[in-house]
Amino acid sequence: MPRLCVMKFGGTSVGDAACIARAAAIVQSTASDGSVVVVVSAMSGVTNRLIDAARHAEAGDAEFATKLVAELRHQHSKALGTLVRDARRAAEVDKSLSHVLAELERLLQGTALLRELTPRALDAISGMGERLSTPLLAAALNELGVSSVPVSATDVIVTDPHHGRAEPLMEPTRERAAKCLHPLLKKGVVPVVTGFIGATLERVPTTLGRGGSDYSATILGAALGAQETVIWTDVDGVKTADPKLVPEARTIDEISYNEAAELAYFGAKVLHPNTLRPVTAAGVPVWIRNSFAPEKPGTKITARGSSNGGGVKALTAIRGVTLITVGGPGIVGLPDVLARSFAATASLRTNVLFVSQSSSQNDICFVISSSDEKRTVEALRHAFAPEIAEQTVEHVSSNSRIAIVAVVGENMHGIPGIAGRTFSALGREGINIIAIAQGSSEYNISLVVEADAMQRAMLTLHREFRLHEAASAAREPHTASRPPKRISEPASLRK
Ligand code: ADP
Ligand code: ASP
Ligand code: MG
Repeated sequence: MPRLCVMKFGGTSVGDAACIARAAAIVQSTASDGSVVVVVSAMSGVTNRLIDAARHAEAGDAEFATKLVAELRHQHSKALGTLVRDARRAAEVDKSLSHVLAELERLLQGTALLRELTPRALDAISGMGERLSTPLLAAALNELGVSSVPVSATDVIVTDPHHGRAEPLMEPTRERAAKCLHPLLKKGVVPVVTGFIGATLERVPTTLGRGGSDYSATILGAALGAQETVIWTDVDGVKTADPKLVPEARTIDEISYNEAAELAYFGAKVLHPNTLRPVTAAGVPVWIRNSFAPEKPGTKITARGSSNGGGVKALTAIRGVTLITVGGPGIVGLPDVLARSFAATASLRTNVLFVSQSSSQNDICFVISSSDEKRTVEALRHAFAPEIAEQTVEHVSSNSRIAIVAVVGENMHGIPGIAGRTFSALGREGINIIAIAQGSSEYNISLVVEADAMQRAMLTLHREFRLHEAASAAREPHTASRPPKRISEPASLRK
């Protein structure tokens, strides 16, 4: 089998006809000397609009659904008209768009009629954007003479039934990927697979969580034994901080799986938090590259990463989170308070991002996603009902006006003073630290700060650790697979 590369294009990278043409040119260039499997997200903004329509339908608003379906038809047909000149091909794609849109309309109308939105229906609705973008990219490739077919990941990626945050079942996924994709690859056809979605063994559609197309790419990469996965997005690579918060953030040449996973886990949207899981054991490199500047090499994520000589590699921040506190005078005497708290969060599959305990203040606190706040607080109050009645546990409270800021770097291990510099720098700026956690792995130091101070904290720490400066000359050379193919912008797209 020739060299296989899985390439994923994010929402902005397929945001309109010009972006889709650019993505197709990138795929064409790589497909000329190896096999390629493409994974695509929905056109940018579409998933949010689908979820919005589902919520309106739940409230009985069917008109919103009709309007959205018309808008999506217009948006995708317009892109199709620009991308595809061959009339027969255009008619075929148009038919598949109509089929998906009709299914979407039925799902939304059904939801509006019942005024009930089950997690299963929400998954079916929110995954429609990928089913609309996939045929467009496949058609654009065929226009360029690269034989391509759209493939629904519901036929390939098998997941557990946890709607909204499903996890892949790798063995059946491997089997289905081999059955469905290998024959195409053997014939030299480029499969364009829907990101974000999968299906249970019983073929019920699921989603891998928001931003999940990155995860789809590495799941397929691992299932097919690809030599590399490339995630094409709208930034030059993994940066020293989110450039939307810290404009002087610099692109990192090479970073380790552990560091990148830590960044993703603490909110660096450039990667879905689970993206690196499927490829870590096999040590398959993942590249993050800019589809709007394909001539740039991007960031390479490998087992070893590379040293920047300075300890701190990057910063990240996460909003939309809530600090939960279980507190009271009797907490110290309750040996199972942690076990009971986390049994409650685990039963809801609430993701706990941060934990801190202070015995002197008689409380434990942890941070979860704000979307899990209501049900988690209810579950905790239920779990501690007898102690709350006896006032051993005084309160289960929540504060959603907070953010987590994390300082990340593999080589922080053994370098003293990073925590001290972090606290001093924030102290000088008058930024109040609400809670602190440092993992024993020392990949990160995370701090809870007031949400309003988050950006200031990021700018301060970025400056403190001089992350805007080029990495040290001591950087080690790339070691894993060959460097990525430099792809230049197609002539038709140059301004
Ligand atoms: P896509 O649609 O391609 O999946 P996303 O919007 O999901 O793209 O992710 C890319 C965005 O991630 C960037 O535009 C950037 O604002 C954000 N981001 C957050 N942290 C980082 C970081 N450390 N490096 C690069 N981008 C980051
Ligand atoms: N379209 C999905 C989302 O917006 C998946 C993705 O973009 O990766 O969450
Ligand atoms: Mg994304």
